[in-house]
This record gives sequence, structure tokens and C-alpha cells, in this order.
Amino acid sequence: MRLTLGKKLFLSYLAVLAVGGIVLALVAQVSLPGAYGRHMVHMSDMMGGGASRQGGRGPFFGERDAAFLNFRASFFDALGWAALAALGMALLISFFLSRSLTAPLQTLTHISQRVAEGHYNERVPAGGSDELGQLARSFNAMAEKLEQVEAMRRRLIGDVAHELRTPLTAIQGSMEGLVDGILPADRTTFEQIASEAGRLSRLVDDLQELARVEAGAFTLNFQPVSLADLVETLRKRFATSCAAKGISLTFHLPDALPRVRADSDRLLQVLTNLLNNARQYTPSGGQVTLSAEASGHEVVVRVKDNGIGIPAEHLPHIFDRFYRVDRSRSRRAGGGSGIGLTICKYLVEAQGGRIWAESPGEGQGSTFSFTLPMA
Ligand code: ADP
Repeated sequence: MRLTLGKKLFLSYLAVLAVGGIVLALVAQVSLPGAYGRHMVHMSDMMGGGASRQGGRGPFFGERDAAFLNFRASFFDALGWAALAALGMALLISFFLSRSLTAPLQTLTHISQRVAEGHYNERVPAGGSDELGQLARSFNAMAEKLEQVEAMRRRLIGDVAHELRTPLTAIQGSMEGLVDGILPADRTTFEQIASEAGRLSRLVDDLQELARVEAGAFTLNFQPVSLADLVETLRKRFATSCAAKGISLTFHLPDALPRVRADSDRLLQVLTNLLNNARQYTPSGGQVTLSAEASGHEVVVRVKDNGIGIPAEHLPHIFDRFYRVDRSRSRRAGGGSGIGLTICKYLVEAQGGRIWAESPGEGQGSTFSFTLPMA
């Protein structure tokens, strides 16, 4: 027979009661003659004495004494009724007690099965500050987390599908145009197709990188890193493309800037991303500046541009994945899929820093800043 927790609790209450009853009867059996004797001595003393010392048999009457046997029978009779009443009450109370313990557990089991079936919005009533209340609260917290993860997963699939559709539709349209002879089979057409294919490939790379950083599947090789060294690499990397777009790129680092504790490859990746954005979203003739300064135990790095800027309502979302201020604007500006800043945020935070964006408004430039601990 399978014993439920309720039955086990109920049986354990009964066992405690049975042991209590047996001990009560045994102790009564042993102590009853002494108690009866003392009582009789006291009675006979009150009535003039003598009887208690009858036959010199000590302070109590013999066990075969008729009055004693009578008394004992009556005592056990009363004890029996009392035990029966106690048993009845105890059964009732233990039934409700075990029900009050098992009912929340049964609810929890039921709700956890519902959550396992995918009903992530189910919650258990979480009253009380005892262990059961705590269990219910941590279960609810877990269900809420699962609900968020599920919502994120759905959004991610929707976003990825949307991002894939745009270049695929363009490639498909161009290919059909070529087949039908509507589009000329010339260099411009093939370049368009190649550019959309390139966009697809960048998206897949970004997604792979995002999956890696989100899962924390990367190792950081922390070292004291000199920003001045990185700046040299960045200067070489961006000099040509910025000059080609007519953007002036400047670097301002104080001479005595302390080294930061970071992974130099990952730090370079963040800076490259921010400079790429600054260059992309700054029109020809604009300015991009990378600066850094020590502040307390940290170094603050800033990438500032005087480009198209970011409207205030978009600033809080700018680091969310797939978030772009304006998809068509970002596409025209040669931007990506809105994953770059999300990756930057993960990388900066993994290195113990914070990252944020500021902009006085549309058309007034943007500043992206992040901190890193000093080495
Ligand atoms: P993307 O690959 O689209 O550039 P990011 O995650 O790097 O994606 O940036 C997200 C969005 O933030 C961009 O689409 C753009 O709208 C905005 N953004 C990023 N950097 C700048 C900047 N320097 N100036 C203006 N807008 C920016």
C-alpha cells in the first residue's frame, strides 16, 4: 500500500497517542498502590488512626484488598473513558493538522505539473512565513523566471525570423527579376545580391556571437591592459574608413592613464563596435572622439560623435537585442541588426564594468561611455 504524506502524518500522530496511552497505563499500574496507600493512611489518620498500620504491612493496603481492587477497577474504567475521549479528539485534530500540511503541498504538486506542461503563468498561493510559505514563494519566483525566459525565446525567434526575411526577400526578388529578364544581369544587380548575402552572413555571425556571450561561453583572459596600446590598433583600423567618409577621428588619453584590468581582445571588440557605430551614424564632415579618464577605482572610456543622435525615448532600450532606433534609418546608414550594443553590454559587464549611452537628442550626436576597473 502506498502511504501518502497525509496518512503517514496521521499514523505518526496515532503512534504518539498510543505510546502515550500505554505509558500512562503502565505508570498508573505501578504508582497506583502507593498512591492508594498514602490516601488511606491520610484518611484513617483523619478518622482517628490505627487502620493504616494494620498487620504491620506498611503504609498501604495489600493488592488483594477488596477496596483497593475496587478502586483500581474504577480508576482504569475512568482512564479508559478518558483515553477514548482523548483518542477521538486527537483523531479529529490530527486529521485537520495533516490536512493543513498536505493541502499546500498538493496544490504545489498540481501547479508544478501545470508549469511543466508549459502554463508558465500559473502561481501557487504564497501566504505564511513558515517553510511552506517560503517554498511557495521560491516556486513562484522560479515560475516567473521561466515565464520570462519563454517570452524571451519567443521574441528571439520572431526577431530572428524577421531579420532573416528582409535580406532573403531582397535576394529572392533579385533572382526572380534576373530569371524573368526584368533585372539586367549586370554588375549592379550582382553587387546588390552579394550585399544582401553579406548582410545575412553578418547577421548569422552576430547571432552566433550573441549566443556565445549570453551563455557566458567565452573565457576572459584578464590582464593589465594599456588603453594607449589599443588606441594605436584602433587608429590603424579606422583611419582609412573614417577619412573616406570625411570624418575626423581623434583620441584623447591622459599621459598618466592607469592600466585597466580587462581582456584586451574583448576590450578591443567593444571599442571597435562603438567606433563602428559612431562612424556609421555620423554624416560626412562629422567628428568622432575616443577619450578616457581615471575616476576613483575605475577608468571611464567615452566614444563621442556629433552624428544623428538618439531621441531620449530610445535611450533606455538601446542595449536591448535587435533594438534599433529606426530600422530603415539604421539600414540606410549601413547598420546591422541591433545586436552589436547588446554584445558590448555583456562584454563590459563580464569585465566588471558598466556601459551607458547619452544623447542630447536627434541630430545632436551621441556619447557611449563604459567603465572598467583599474588594474
Ligand atoms: P546596429 O548593428 O544596428 O548598429 P547596435 O546594437 O550596434 O546595432 O546599435 C543599436 C542601435 O542603436 C542602432 O541601430 C542605432 O539606431 C543606435 N545607435 C548606436 N550607436 C549610435 C550612434 N553612435 N549614434 C546614433 N545612433 C546609434
